[in-house]
Amino acid sequence: MALIVQKFGGTSVGSPERIKNVAQRVARFHAQGHQMVVVVSAMSGETNRLIALAKEVQANPDPRELDVVISTGEQVTIGLLAMALKDLGVDARSYTGGQVRISTDSAYTKARILHIDDGAMRADLNKGRVVIVAGFQGVDDAGNITTLGRGGSDTTGVALAAALKADECQIYTDVDGVYSTDPRVVPEARKLDRITFEEMLELASSGSKVLQIRSVEFAGKYKVRLRVLSSFMEDPGEGTLITFEEDQDMEQAVISGIAFNRDEAKITVLGVPDKPGIAYQILGPVADANIDVDLIIQNVGRDGTTDFSFTVHRNEFQKALKVLNETVKPHIGAREVIGDDKIAKVAVVGVGMRSHVGVASTVFRTLAEEGINIQMISTSEIKISVVVDDKYMELAVRVLHRAFGLDGEPKAA
Ligand code: ASP
Ligand code: MG
Repeated sequence: MALIVQKFGGTSVGSPERIKNVAQRVARFHAQGHQMVVVVSAMSGETNRLIALAKEVQANPDPRELDVVISTGEQVTIGLLAMALKDLGVDARSYTGGQVRISTDSAYTKARILHIDDGAMRADLNKGRVVIVAGFQGVDDAGNITTLGRGGSDTTGVALAAALKADECQIYTDVDGVYSTDPRVVPEARKLDRITFEEMLELASSGSKVLQIRSVEFAGKYKVRLRVLSSFMEDPGEGTLITFEEDQDMEQAVISGIAFNRDEAKITVLGVPDKPGIAYQILGPVADANIDVDLIIQNVGRDGTTDFSFTVHRNEFQKALKVLNETVKPHIGAREVIGDDKIAKVAVVGVGMRSHVGVASTVFRTLAEEGINIQMISTSEIKISVVVDDKYMELAVRVLHRAFGLDGEPKAA
């Protein structure tokens, strides 16, 4: 007998039929004697609908009230799932985040979980009840409803698993696991049986949408055993297990996965005086405007000046340009600020990079052979990211996937 937390995403609870299917799956585990805690998202499309509704009333919705509105989607699904379970003769009880007492800070629309009270859940579990908890929401010290950011139900699931010291947290979704890359871009992409926590973190931060990045951080911090599975397969098999040890299997591929995104834009400040403190003078005001910076490149100076490039989220591109043109450019005497939002970032990830040389050169050669220009490069111990022209993104992902032997069967390292 185990204590299992299962999380079902929006598509998995997207209709009354699907909610009944989820109830059946949960009931099967319960019948095997497991203690079950179930976290659900809002029905698919519902959170988007609620956000749009709020914007119709107030163009720039008040964050506190927005959370009051958008947290309701999950409240509907917990009630419906509890009903479906009761209909199957399983004793179940639904809880909102506030009822459990999932305590968060007060950062509306992107709150962080601070503490989870496991008392009510434990009492129910001890009575043999299935506990159903609304994902994506919590409550601050003053009792205000908060939400955890888009995709936040994953984080609720992992956080509950951590608080309850669950044996496993299973994330049920519309794919049957974590793939070597998005199968919509590369049909030959393979499902991974295992992936290390570090790799998952790099993939999630580089554009893989399978798990919300915060949920992966949480799993790492509290060593939660995490598994991604399909909610649409009668027998979803083993899905993908996120492990904390590297696979000892010698056949393991050097690269586990390739992630990509079009979420960023590039900004270049031209003709910057090449002297100490300049990076700070450029990026300080950007940080003060609450704009996150990702990749940064500073060129070798010549004639006392240099060029400085970095990327920001595309949503903050205009705001960043404004800060640079109005504050930074006149202050440091830069020649010009230019920007490009038609870029994409492609990241090759694998713990095998630690023990294999030549991964970077394979990336560069493969892209060169296709005539794809690399605009920026950044590396970590287990990741190489490149920024390329938006229109070459899919090609870059396909050729890299093939070059690293990820198509079909994994190539022996
Ligand atoms: N319903 C929320 C969203 O759409 C949370 C989630 O699904 O994880 O972002
Ligand atoms: Mg999700």
